[in-house]
Amino acid sequence: MDKIKDFIDEEVNDYRLKTEAKENETKEQFFTYLLLGYSVTKFKKWVDKKWDKSDRKQMATSKLKLEELVDKVNEVNDIGKTKNYFELIDYKRVEEVKKSFTDELLKYYEKRQEIAEKVPNKAEYLKDFVDKYDKQMANVPYFKNGKVYSWHTLSDYTSMIYNTNLTRAGWNRTLTDAERTGNNLLYIEAHPFSCPVCMQYQGKYYSTKKNDIYPYIGTALDGGIGHPHCKHVPTIASSPIKMQDDDYNSVEWQERYEIQQKIMAVERNKEKLRTDLSIYEKMGDQTKIDLTKAKIKKLNQKNRELKASLWPIAVASQ
Ligand SMILES: [Zn+2]
Repeated sequence: MDKIKDFIDEEVNDYRLKTEAKENETKEQFFTYLLLGYSVTKFKKWVDKKWDKSDRKQMATSKLKLEELVDKVNEVNDIGKTKNYFELIDYKRVEEVKKSFTDELLKYYEKRQEIAEKVPNKAEYLKDFVDKYDKQMANVPYFKNGKVYSWHTLSDYTSMIYNTNLTRAGWNRTLTDAERTGNNLLYIEAHPFSCPVCMQYQGKYYSTKKNDIYPYIGTALDGGIGHPHCKHVPTIASSPIKMQDDDYNSVEWQERYEIQQKIMAVERNKEKLRTDLSIYEKMGDQTKIDLTKAKIKKLNQKNRELKASLWPIAVASQ
C-alpha cells in the first residue's frame, strides 16, 4: 500500500474534478447568458468570481500535508527546510493559463453575442457552437521541441501542474530526509496501474550515490520516472528486504492501466455531455436532446463493458 501515491492520486483527482465541474458550469453559463441576451460585462463578472485564486491555498496545503506524510513514511521527525532538488512550477503559471482561458472565453462570448442579437432565432444560431466551444476552449498549448505538440483544456493542464508539483515536493522531501539522516538507500514502491514508462523502475532499490551496490537514483530519473502525471516518489529504505510480493510489472497490469485510463475518459465525456444536454434543453432543441441522450446511454454501456474487462475474474464469480 503506497500511502504517498494514494495521497497524490486523491488530491489531484479532487482538484481535477472540481476544475472540470467549473469548466462545465462555465460552458452552461456561457450559453444561458447568451440566450438571455446578457452583456459581456455581466458574464465577465460571473467568470471572475468563478475563476478566482482559491486553488492557490489548496495547492499549498496539499504540499504541506504531503511533506508531512513523506517524513512519516521515512520515519524522520521534523527536518526543517526542504531542499529544492527539483524546481516546483510557480502558481504564476496557473494564473497565466487561467487568464488566457478567461480572455478567450470573453472574446468568444462577445463575438457570439454580437450576432445572436441580430438573428431572428438565437437558439437556432447558437446550437452549432455547443460543439465548437470545446475545441475553442481547449486552448493551452503543450510544447515539445519548441513546437506545439498538443492542445489541452484548462483542467487538464492545471491538474498536471498540481500533480507535478506534489510529486516533485515528495522527491525533494525524501532526498532532504536522506541527506540529513545519512541514509543512502531508497526504494520506489510498485503500484498497480503504473504507467508503462515507470513500470521497469518500480519495486526496486536505489542509492542516492553513484557507484553504489544499488543503481543510482538518477538512472530512474533519466529513464523517465517523474514525468508529467507520475506519482512515483522514492522513500528511505532502512534495510534492503523485499517489501512487496507483487511488483505489478506485467503486460496484464499494463492492459489494466490502459483500461482504467479509458474508463476515466468516458466518465469525463459523460459529464460534458450532461452539460450539453442541459444547454440543449434550454434551447428547446429536441433533436439535439435525443441525440445527446443516446450518446450518454452509449457511454454508460461502454463503461460497463470496460469495467467488466478490468476484473474479469471478480465479475465472473459474482
Ligand atoms: Zn511514475
